[in-house]
Amino acid sequence: MVETKKILVCGAGGFIGSHLVRRLKDEGHWVRGVDLKFPEFGAVEADDFLIGDLRDRRTCERAIDGRFDEVYQLAADMGGAGYIFTGEHDADVMSNSATINLNVVDTCHKRNIRRIFYSSSACIYPAYNQIDPDHPNCAEDSAYPAAPDSEYGWEKLFSERLFLAYNRNYAMQNRIARYHNIFGPRGTWTGGREKAPAAICRKVAMAPNHGEIEIWGDGNQTRSFLYVDECVEGTLRLTRSDFEGPVNIGSEEQVTINQLVDLVCDIAGKTLHRNHVPGPQGVRGRNSDNRLIAEKLGWAPSESLRSGLEKTYEWIEEKVNRADPEAAGAASRSSPAEWPKERVA
Ligand code: NAD
Repeated sequence: MVETKKILVCGAGGFIGSHLVRRLKDEGHWVRGVDLKFPEFGAVEADDFLIGDLRDRRTCERAIDGRFDEVYQLAADMGGAGYIFTGEHDADVMSNSATINLNVVDTCHKRNIRRIFYSSSACIYPAYNQIDPDHPNCAEDSAYPAAPDSEYGWEKLFSERLFLAYNRNYAMQNRIARYHNIFGPRGTWTGGREKAPAAICRKVAMAPNHGEIEIWGDGNQTRSFLYVDECVEGTLRLTRSDFEGPVNIGSEEQVTINQLVDLVCDIAGKTLHRNHVPGPQGVRGRNSDNRLIAEKLGWAPSESLRSGLEKTYEWIEEKVNRADPEAAGAASRSSPAEWPKERVA
């Protein structure tokens, strides 16, 4: 019989957090979620859900009010390229996320909770190793000398060091993963914080066959994308292992943004023209390097990008067709000149 654990998920109202809560409930655990908001899509599945601001120490103390067997710290001020690479949100991103992390780790330490999972990001990797789109270097030990290309990445690097410092000085056992572009149903798909797979699915779903969609840059920038169920699996395996990390949790199936668009078009059964426009793009190339996770945990994700995109496209297409009046209107317009000028990050 599986032992029932008491588990806290910070950021449980967010995309990965809500999937994590569902998985933990499926495993039979007692789960408390904490977030500024309830999950946007779907019901609250946690046993207890605290609405609160983790920048406030008192909220942290209310959320972490006793023993927890596992704590997952996913709360952060984040978004896709249109949010974190424009520079317009740098001060908020850095101060909000750093304050949350400072509060969570110290409150856990004071409550004698020894292990926190922390979600870092591929955005910590140095820009100088991600110039060649075909051969980016994202091995874990390439993080230093540090040169992330965004303040979001710098904050993640600071917080990695923060959690590791608590391990060294206070005998904590925090675990750190560097997520690489997680996607799937129930993620932000519109509004400016959405990431490339969701934005592309939305644009493709909105466009009439033989229409066009906008893409930031020439579309030859490379990335890999990991389906959210695999992310949750890797997260649980790391948290429950003896390995501290930091370790990549991502897919090694690298594609260009143009290839990603073609894949989504193929799933949708549409032929669309790609209109390349200037916009924030992040680094030129990025791919997960899964050698360390394979060595330490004997695991690597296996689901294909296509299979994850099929599920994601179906979910977003349904949202576009039923929930969003502007999108429904755009889809019904006949002339490309009349479509909303939204962009793909
Ligand atoms: P998300 O934005 O959907 O979830 C983050 C949640 O944190 C949100 O629900 C938000 O309301 C909450 N939050 C923000 N500020 C808060 C505050 N002050 N108090 C309480 N809650 C607050 O993002 P996600 O995609 O689910 O990402 C989860 C974590 O994984 C984040 O730390 C993110 O930086 C990291 N990550 C995600 C990706 C990805 O591709 N999604 C990649 C790398 C790293």
